[in-house]
Amino acid sequence: MSKRIIKISADDLRSIINNDAEVIKKYLSMLPNPKKCECCGHIFNPQRHTEIYCDNCKLTGYIKKVKSDDILKKYNTAYKTMYARMRRKKLTIEELAIWRERAYKAMLDAKAGHITMNEYTTILYRI
Ligand SMILES: [Zn+2]
Repeated sequence: MSKRIIKISADDLRSIINNDAEVIKKYLSMLPNPKKCECCGHIFNPQRHTEIYCDNCKLTGYIKKVKSDDILKKYNTAYKTMYARMRRKKLTIEELAIWRERAYKAMLDAKAGHITMNEYTTILYRI
């Protein structure tokens, strides 16, 4: 988390303690607008208005991890759908095996960034 030091005069500090809206406003305007990190949801102070991820997510590669989990989640959801189709006799065991092989390969491609999430989803639901 980045820190910003703002000097406050004793008079202003007294005004803030006394809830002087004008003085409080003056100092609030010096602070960058806090934003919600699009990855983890934590509130952070962006250094530029274009920033959408907090420092922690940027540094730890958490964004990648969440994206990767999302890819796995999509695979699992699609697998459940396909398995249910097989149970309802809308898909044979062989077809499910073929689907699984293709879907698994697509998952690896999506994780590696070779295909987009849209392409990935399309492949997952194609028989
Ligand atoms: Zn974050």
